[in-house]
Amino acid sequence: MRTTISVIKADIGSLAGHHVVHPDTMAAASKVLAEAKAQGILIDYYITHVGDDLQLIMTHTRGELDPKVHETAWNAFKKAAEVARDLGLYAAGQDLLSDSFSGNIRGLGPGVAEMDIEERISEPIAIFMADKTEPGAFNLPLYKMFADPFNTPGLVIDPTMHDGFKFEVLDVYEGEAVTLTAPQELYDLLALIGTPARYVIRRIYRNDDNLLAAVVAIERLNLIAGKYVGKDDPVTIVRLQHGLPALGEALEAFSFPHLVPGWMRGSHYGPLMPVSQRDARATRFDGPPRLIGLGFNVKNGKLVGPSDLFDDPAFDEARRLANVIADYMRRHGTFMPHRLEPTEMEYTTLPLIQEKLKPRFKKEADMYKTKESIYTKGKSTGETHD
Ligand SMILES: [Mg+2]
Repeated sequence: MRTTISVIKADIGSLAGHHVVHPDTMAAASKVLAEAKAQGILIDYYITHVGDDLQLIMTHTRGELDPKVHETAWNAFKKAAEVARDLGLYAAGQDLLSDSFSGNIRGLGPGVAEMDIEERISEPIAIFMADKTEPGAFNLPLYKMFADPFNTPGLVIDPTMHDGFKFEVLDVYEGEAVTLTAPQELYDLLALIGTPARYVIRRIYRNDDNLLAAVVAIERLNLIAGKYVGKDDPVTIVRLQHGLPALGEALEAFSFPHLVPGWMRGSHYGPLMPVSQRDARATRFDGPPRLIGLGFNVKNGKLVGPSDLFDDPAFDEARRLANVIADYMRRHGTFMPHRLEPTEMEYTTLPLIQEKLKPRFKKEADMYKTKESIYTKGKSTGETHD
């Protein structure tokens, strides 16, 4: 059976700041999706959240970029945002950058990860959703999952994975993509994806048969809106098992809480902390950046599950390390490298401060002249300067 999995997410407002979605907004979105299911637009759906991001996980047979499915998601966010406004929630409707829907939700604010697949006899998937960071945050873990045998021994042991994977990498500034094959072009791949603010892994395919293995939502809100409107918190859908990474290999990639940009005001590096659904609330310094993972089996378009993948003491040490890193990074205050580099700060409110200070800057040559004259004046009075 051919099934499309669509995960569409948006920040439509949060309770008491930017840390958690209100259950009433989720209920409003759920009502819209239930209607779409009754009408046969969707086969199944599951609604969740990570931090302040409302996540719509939907299945159907209508393919990617389907106007009906995208309109359903848009309406769900609109209804949820109405409830958010009624409750006076913070930043209600934040990610809904347009007043009207025009056939495709891309470019309107919400993030979209979709894959149209031929269901295998058993189709296990994991959906990873993060808050307080951006799509490039998945570059490192996806590289580890699909290209690093120290993370994924299946690349070495399993003959069906031995030919490796190819990575479609998008340059988000130029809007152009390149496909690189691992392991053959591993160094070229790393040369790009090590700059995750610019080069973002968008899709991964198996080399031998082009099987689609993973997709990432690649919207960058700051480039869409031209001003900072919240980090475009990312989502990835990863297919698992039988010639693809085992579930545990996919999860292992998140056992190292690597530094990602985002966190407070979208302006700070912090560790990506894998948490259970109940801990998907970005509290300390609006973070640290949180990641949840849900595991499903997709059968005839139905979502069987989920399993809350990081609700496991085996990830306690990753969380503890993330807390230690959070302490260490926080002690830098407003200094880099805790604060992001200037190019990434362009879309925050920092340029307003720089603009205010601009008239007070004096040319260095003028300041030097002033010092010279004081010195000369001192000499002329016969004072000594030893
Ligand atoms: Mg968010």
